[in-house]
Amino acid sequence: MNCPYCDFYDSKVIDSREVNDGIRRRRQCLSCGSRFTTYERLQPASLFVIKKDERREEFNRDKLLTGIRKACEKRPLPTGSVDKLADDIEAELYRQGKAEIPSAAIGDMVMERLKNLDHVAYIRFASVYREFADITALKQEVDTLVGSEVGASLPTSQLSLLPDDKLGEIARSRRRVQKRGRRG
Ligand SMILES: [Zn+2]
Repeated sequence: MNCPYCDFYDSKVIDSREVNDGIRRRRQCLSCGSRFTTYERLQPASLFVIKKDERREEFNRDKLLTGIRKACEKRPLPTGSVDKLADDIEAELYRQGKAEIPSAAIGDMVMERLKNLDHVAYIRFASVYREFADITALKQEVDTLVGSEVGASLPTSQLSLLPDDKLGEIARSRRRVQKRGRRG
């Protein structure tokens, strides 16, 4: 594996230990001296994800990690917690030993864990993954989430926490709701 800092092809192992399902190696780049970590794990039998349109796609940890990273972007989370979350889910999936799993089930697993990790990341992930039909459904989810803790609903201004494309969608659905309101 190339150095993530300078892309040099060679590194030396300075520490190696067994973790859950594999081996964790601390490495030092032979060119720039930066340290980084690699994990070596056994590749289990293929696991396929059943998409919403019934297509099958081989499970891809990187894809899962990218989705979680996006939701956790700029959140004050401990280093490594996002990777750990992806590791946990991957391990859980293979523990179940199924050949196929619906993408929705994986989404639920991510949400369950994000809920305990970071509420903002949870809402971001939920807003993309659940594809909330309208602002009301999203607001209900947010209210449920924060209601018990602070006893107040999230002000509308906080919706800027959502990804841009989602914001546009919400704005559009809100306009639709207003139009309906005027008609009724
Ligand atoms: Zn380097």
